[in-house]
Amino acid sequence: MGSVESLKSVAAIIKQNVEDDTEQVVVCSAMSGVTNQLVKIGELLEQSQNDSAFETFSSVQNLHFSAAKDLGVELDFKEAAKPIFYDLENIIKGVGLIHEISDRSRAYLCAFGEKLSTRLLTAFLKKEGVNAYQVDSVNVKTEGNDFLEDDIEWESTEKHLGDELKILLSEDKMPVMTGFFGTNPEGSLALLGRGGSDFSGAIVAKSLKWPTLEIWTDVDGFLSADPRVVSDAQLISEIGFEEVSELCFFGAKVLHPKTIRPVTDADGSVWIKNTFKPEVLGTKISKKVSKNCHSAVAISSKKVAIITMDMFGTQLSEKRFDVLEKIFDILRRFKLAPDAMASSEALVSFCVPEGFCADTTFLEELAEIAPTETHCGREVICVVCPEEVKGRPGVAVELFKAVAEVGVSIEMYSQNASEIAQLIVVKGEDAPKTIRSIHEKLATGVCNI
Ligand code: ASP
Ligand code: MG
Repeated sequence: MGSVESLKSVAAIIKQNVEDDTEQVVVCSAMSGVTNQLVKIGELLEQSQNDSAFETFSSVQNLHFSAAKDLGVELDFKEAAKPIFYDLENIIKGVGLIHEISDRSRAYLCAFGEKLSTRLLTAFLKKEGVNAYQVDSVNVKTEGNDFLEDDIEWESTEKHLGDELKILLSEDKMPVMTGFFGTNPEGSLALLGRGGSDFSGAIVAKSLKWPTLEIWTDVDGFLSADPRVVSDAQLISEIGFEEVSELCFFGAKVLHPKTIRPVTDADGSVWIKNTFKPEVLGTKISKKVSKNCHSAVAISSKKVAIITMDMFGTQLSEKRFDVLEKIFDILRRFKLAPDAMASSEALVSFCVPEGFCADTTFLEELAEIAPTETHCGREVICVVCPEEVKGRPGVAVELFKAVAEVGVSIEMYSQNASEIAQLIVVKGEDAPKTIRSIHEKLATGVCNI
């Protein structure tokens, strides 16, 4: 929902479905940049910068009003959005008085982008002759653990949301629902985490027991590598959910990783499609995919630091598992799940996001447990293999050969038992050529089986 142009394309796609008699529920994220601006408003108010907060509020307001004007729905949108802007202004005033914002208020503040975008799209769809009906996602029920990234209470969500949407559909109303948030058991608004609108779409699909979720975005789908690194990266037409989870986790920002499970677990499919090129088929994600003859489906990467801890350097009285427990406790406190991990009798190595290289508190805490070495500026490359490589001999050899051929030394390696993801860590400056070589040897070319 980036621009007037994309709103028009979205509306055209929806109209086409109506013409084809395809039943649909539309879930919207905010217009682009809006959620960030709302986050910013919260920060500005905390820092007592009320004037700047109100300026940001005005820019959010202007963005929507000008889009509404371009879409020819200025009056209808103003009418529908009036109570929403009124609420938003009031919460800004309230927080602006005390300069303190709780997670509860922050969640409430950040959800306005979706409340506005759905009202805008609904007004435009109505003008275009679609019987659209705006829905705030209050029936997405959450568990109440966290205002900013809550978990779903599936049973009541499926019941209440499913019933609400079914009734609307039976009345021939096409729901346009807010993504990104739900309500917790106390009735307060709770967010589903940044980028959570994709997940909201999956929640709708599961609640209606529908087999298809389409995520309309600004890319063609998942690519076999980052096209900025690999110029002949290819669009992946079909991929399994385990493979795609690895890809999302390792830097492919196409999709919120939680999105896939609820749909593929029910044997449904998630499609990634490009709003601006609806004719491109996109990527289909499902539980099982048809055969892939290559050793790798895709390669992704992210910048990390390697931390190596010398277990022999700890006091002899300490047991190895006690030391590991202490390491994991620190990782837990810093909310870190290590990206790759390798251990031997003497050493434990793991990767953390590169920012932790400069985090002295974190590094000092680790150093209290055992002598610690930090290697900054590294890149973890995740080679995602198709499910059927499991048990196929020689895949790691192929990988190591591809890396060796460009004269790069692997600093860390790990493969999980599903054999779907192979991780290697190399120096940052070596990463692009390494990725290109792996892509060429493992993900493309004539099939070797
Ligand atoms: N608008 C929310 C965000 O920016 C949710 C989403 O876009 O999926 O995080
Ligand atoms: Mg999004």
